[in-house]
Amino acid sequence: MAKIFLKKNEEHRIRTGHYWVFSNEIEKLEGTAETGELVELFDSKGTLLGTGFYNKSSLISVRLLEKSFKADISEYIKNSLLNAYQYRKSIYPNRNSYRLVFSESDYLPGLIVDKYNDTYVLQVYCAGMHLNISLVVNVLKDKLGALNIFTRNEPYFRKLEGLTEEDEVYLGSVGTEIISDGKLSYSIDFASSQKTGFYFDQCDNREFIHKITGGRSVLDIFSNSGGFGMHAVSAGAASVIFVDSSENEIENCRNNYSLNKLTSKAEYIVSDVFDYLEKSIAAGAKSDVVMIDPPAFAKSRKSIPTALKGYVKLNKLALGCINPGGYLVTSSCSYHIKEKEFIESVTKAAEKAGKNIQLIYKNGASLDHPQIPAMEETSYLKYLVFKVS
Ligand code: SAH
Repeated sequence: MAKIFLKKNEEHRIRTGHYWVFSNEIEKLEGTAETGELVELFDSKGTLLGTGFYNKSSLISVRLLEKSFKADISEYIKNSLLNAYQYRKSIYPNRNSYRLVFSESDYLPGLIVDKYNDTYVLQVYCAGMHLNISLVVNVLKDKLGALNIFTRNEPYFRKLEGLTEEDEVYLGSVGTEIISDGKLSYSIDFASSQKTGFYFDQCDNREFIHKITGGRSVLDIFSNSGGFGMHAVSAGAASVIFVDSSENEIENCRNNYSLNKLTSKAEYIVSDVFDYLEKSIAAGAKSDVVMIDPPAFAKSRKSIPTALKGYVKLNKLALGCINPGGYLVTSSCSYHIKEKEFIESVTKAAEKAGKNIQLIYKNGASLDHPQIPAMEETSYLKYLVFKVS
């Protein structure tokens, strides 16, 4: 196996538990290694730090495996997958659908696996993992009983690793599933859905909604498949309005609402959220609980200032549509925006909207998205709930 030596003093981050080595931190490569092959990593004094997948052309040159890795990648992948599975089964004993693997957080570099009953949807963003994907497929098939296995990759992250952009079907076909989050059901059509099909990261946060929505009117903004609004109604909300710019997703909400036999008054609106909220304010239309869950506004470090302005504007509009004594439930999935900055944005929005806000709850992604404390890249979702007066 080829050996990679770090420059002097570049080992600290790795020793604290970070799993990536950047190209500018490397002093030399001894031997030869092709993209996707395993390499051993040493500090400048020659102490072994770990083993990882090499990539010649990515900014992330080595993606390390967990320290317990011996020499057998097949055993390693099998054990890591089964550990990840045991953990999910223990935290969600009554569910068959969840994020089964969250990349580095489950010690499987660049691999995401979302489990929808017996359908497993993969995202593969590491060249070494891509080369070894048949090992992953075999465990899913032989140990977990997978019937369908395919990828729904985001081209942007594939490109960074020099990987082709086409999706692959490894087993079965790209069909549909009806999944349960433990309380409610969702119909997923994988060919037309966003991301891998469902936003599992908000599952625990949708549960929280039950505490604040009984008997209230609710606005589910950026509703996608309708999870937040439907949970509100299942907790006794008097009415719900779903808003999303995607016609397909609003249709999805409508189907899911009847699938769950929910009966409170529901409205379905295909609209840009900013337009909708501005019109609502002009018309004086208000709800008791407004929930907003936009896509990432800051896709890169460069876009942070614009994104922060966007969060202030959006939250100000949302606050303008809340009845006194109501709640604002607001999320940001921009990795580049930190929790402190996001809270500051909502504080600024409240000032502009002339509202008092009390932060009553905050959380990150659900328990099936573990975080590596030394690796802030594994933490991205911020979920805040405010009481508004
Ligand atoms: N709350 C959802 C997830 C939201 S994902 C859940 O719990 O599952 C973000 C959603 O915002 C997507 O469905 C996307 O179609 C929608 N969206 C993106 N930009 C929008 C805009 N400007 N106006 C309205 N909806 C938008």
